[in-house]
Amino acid sequence: MKKTTFVKLKMREASFISRALLSSRHPVLAHLIPMRRCNLACGYCNEYDHTSKPIDLDVIKNRLDKLASLGTSIVTISGGEPMMHPELDQIIHHIRQRGMIAGLISNGYYFTPERIKRLNKAGLEYLQISIDNVEPDEVSRKSLRVLDKKLRYLSEYADFHVNINSVIGGGIKNPEDALAVAKRAAELGFSTTVGVIHDNDGTLKPLSKKEKDIFQQVKKMGNKDHARLNWFQDSIAEGKAYNWRCRAGARYLYICEEGLVHWCSQQRGYPGIPLEQYTMEDFDREYKTEKWCAPTCTLQCVHQVGILDNWRDPQKTPAQMAEEQKNGKSVGEMIGAD
Ligand code: SF4
Ligand code: SF4
Repeated sequence: MKKTTFVKLKMREASFISRALLSSRHPVLAHLIPMRRCNLACGYCNEYDHTSKPIDLDVIKNRLDKLASLGTSIVTISGGEPMMHPELDQIIHHIRQRGMIAGLISNGYYFTPERIKRLNKAGLEYLQISIDNVEPDEVSRKSLRVLDKKLRYLSEYADFHVNINSVIGGGIKNPEDALAVAKRAAELGFSTTVGVIHDNDGTLKPLSKKEKDIFQQVKKMGNKDHARLNWFQDSIAEGKAYNWRCRAGARYLYICEEGLVHWCSQQRGYPGIPLEQYTMEDFDREYKTEKWCAPTCTLQCVHQVGILDNWRDPQKTPAQMAEEQKNGKSVGEMIGAD
């Protein structure tokens, strides 16, 4: 990434963070799914299919316009595999035109020099690739050996920030692979992060001693800001619950391919309201609703967004919110909003 682009991005980020601290009434981060289809089938994943079609560009542009009108700071395009969407460049360009930061999460398979240059031109600012192991196996083919050539292309041509995420837990056989992935990412000049994932039955189990040692080593090598923002991972690594306020449905939005707003990829169906009908009343309700799944949640980006408001505005359980609504109180009254 060029130095000038890096400085501009850091300044934009600083201004978005200040705005988020000053006001809690706009989304900070939205994940938008332009197609569910993926070229892979990772063993722990419930976010893909092999048949769905890309969503039309005009439909996606309308969704982005709505996110911009809600005051959203960052839009990250995710999937499935979003690089399979034939109009991804136009989607990214539209995010930038609407003044939002443009990010992408990809499995890395489709990066070529020509494709990276197109993403530079479209205005992509962040890319995250998760690499699960060194050699492909039955759980995951997001593997260093397969992707190394793509990483070299990115190192040479990308004019956007690249972060490589490695993972520990969740049936990943060789925890030491996370260290190899982080080392290679650092060698190529990328930032690195590490995620702790649940077992594929969704249960929270402590990491083994070996996994914990490697987790700490990878964390030390990685992005210092990220490590500072992810205290929750230490509890999750111990198999313990973590106490925080999840602001999904408000400060963080997950927009599925059908254009519905969900808390996140793991809680699809709540609240399940079409984005075009989403109002600040919905935003306020979800901001104040305590999420039953929060203590064991491993979704790093939602935790990071939560930090901005963890010190203010305590939450109520869904039952308390429903009771107050039954008594005729508006969401505004319940939370004491202006
Ligand atoms: S590449 Fe990503 S979306 Fe595709 S199956 Fe793997 S984890 Fe799921
Ligand atoms: S706590 Fe985690 S799993 Fe639950 S809604 Fe929030 S982000 Fe999703």
